[in-house]
Amino acid sequence: MHAFPHTDDVIAEHSLDPQDWGAFSATAHGLVDDAVASVRDVRHRAVWREMPPEIRERLSGPLPRHPQPLTEVARTVSEVIMPYPMGNVHPRFWAWYMGASNMTGALADFLAAVQGSNLGGGNHAAALLDQQVVRWCKEMVGFPETASGTLVSGGSMANLLALTIARNVMAGFDIREHGLAALTQTLCFYGSDQTHSCHRKAVEALGLGNRSLRRVASDEEYRIDLKALRRAIAEDRTADRRPACIIANAGSVNTGSIDDLDALADLAHEEGLWLHVDGCIGALIALAPSNKHLVHGLERADSIALDPHKWLHAPFDVGCCLVRDAQAHRGAFATTPEYLQSTPRGLASGDWLHEFGLQTSRGFRALKVWMALKEHGADRFGRLIDQNISQAQYLGRLVVADPRLALMAPVAINIVCFRFDPGGIDEAELKALNLEIMLRLQEDGSAVLSDTVLKGQHCLRVAICNHRTLYEDLDFLVREILRLGDEVSRGEASQPSS
Ligand SMILES: *Cc1c(COP(=O)(O)O)cnc(C)c1O
Repeated sequence: MHAFPHTDDVIAEHSLDPQDWGAFSATAHGLVDDAVASVRDVRHRAVWREMPPEIRERLSGPLPRHPQPLTEVARTVSEVIMPYPMGNVHPRFWAWYMGASNMTGALADFLAAVQGSNLGGGNHAAALLDQQVVRWCKEMVGFPETASGTLVSGGSMANLLALTIARNVMAGFDIREHGLAALTQTLCFYGSDQTHSCHRKAVEALGLGNRSLRRVASDEEYRIDLKALRRAIAEDRTADRRPACIIANAGSVNTGSIDDLDALADLAHEEGLWLHVDGCIGALIALAPSNKHLVHGLERADSIALDPHKWLHAPFDVGCCLVRDAQAHRGAFATTPEYLQSTPRGLASGDWLHEFGLQTSRGFRALKVWMALKEHGADRFGRLIDQNISQAQYLGRLVVADPRLALMAPVAINIVCFRFDPGGIDEAELKALNLEIMLRLQEDGSAVLSDTVLKGQHCLRVAICNHRTLYEDLDFLVREILRLGDEVSRGEASQPSS
């Protein structure tokens, strides 16, 4: 045996571990206490506020070359970062579409990082737990046990994976081996004009091009027009193109509309097409006792994208792609390089989870979903979904009841589109007025909502995917919109409510 030679050319050893574990623990406990208090008191703070110049300044420094005590780093975080959040954990945040997070999930993210496991695969508990969460996702949407799935960063990635699998299966030849150059017919994907923009990114990234995504007209309730869809498919066949996949919306991003999933499943079956359901918003309605009928037929899809960081309120980020045909799923991504072979025993004897998507290293995002589901039970999440839908219907009634407000789309689920309309002003003025109301709400810190355009008309959009929202928050919102609407209409400068 050779002793390691102690010579002058061996450098001193360091690690990233704390030198004083006790001091580290005290700092960590302080951070946890502050974090818990910040969420406990969130209702009493502004939803959002503009960062003053000195805060921006403090976030513009160069690469730090030298060490700084952790207590100082932590102080900077509590002064510069924590007071200026996006605001989606606040009960009056209803912009775009996102969840409100939860403390158990936050704790899980901490533990996941502490354990540090890589979910690319292998024989360890985190990998088993990841697979259990995927099985639970299948169960929540009524997919069979034999289906496959994977956790990804969010709905956009889940949709990209699903469309990749659909493309590969529907190409009719080995597109992984031969590539797009071997396509003799244009592959066509169909979705309504309400389809989320990530599908455009997906078909572009897949090399099929934006034009391969056919935007089919939606009806007056913003659901895909089935006659128009049939026509589009027939036209493409006549022109020797290859219809491949229908993308159904279970909860469209503008209005929450849900396509007729059963009819689309029938049509896909008749035409021999892949049916993908973008269920980022609505797939989990399958858990909601009073509303699950709205997503009937979901379980007939070939693939589903869903988003636990929306209605399961997992901290960002986590999405899930489910695929009925497990072999098609694995067949789209699996490769077994020499450096990732399985072994009969030991750490490499588990499943290689990277074979179900594009990432090799994968974070332990399953734990935050798992812990919150264990703590609350799936039924509670279902009831919270019903609660948000009921709150949206309540807001819709408040809007309809006031002559100064106009409801701009039917309230299908938890999204309410409306605008302040005092009468006698044109479309451009209405847009400017409502935009100003929206910005004053944000700048007052009283509520955050977003806007959109429906059939050429601008409107405010309130998406209630928030377990902290109360009915009284919606009463407050309507009062504030009416107050601000009058204030802006009279040409007055912003005067925050007391
Ligand atoms: C949120 C959303 C997406 C994108 O999901 P991310 O998690 O933001 O990547 C796709 N489709 C719909 C309908 C969505 O609501």
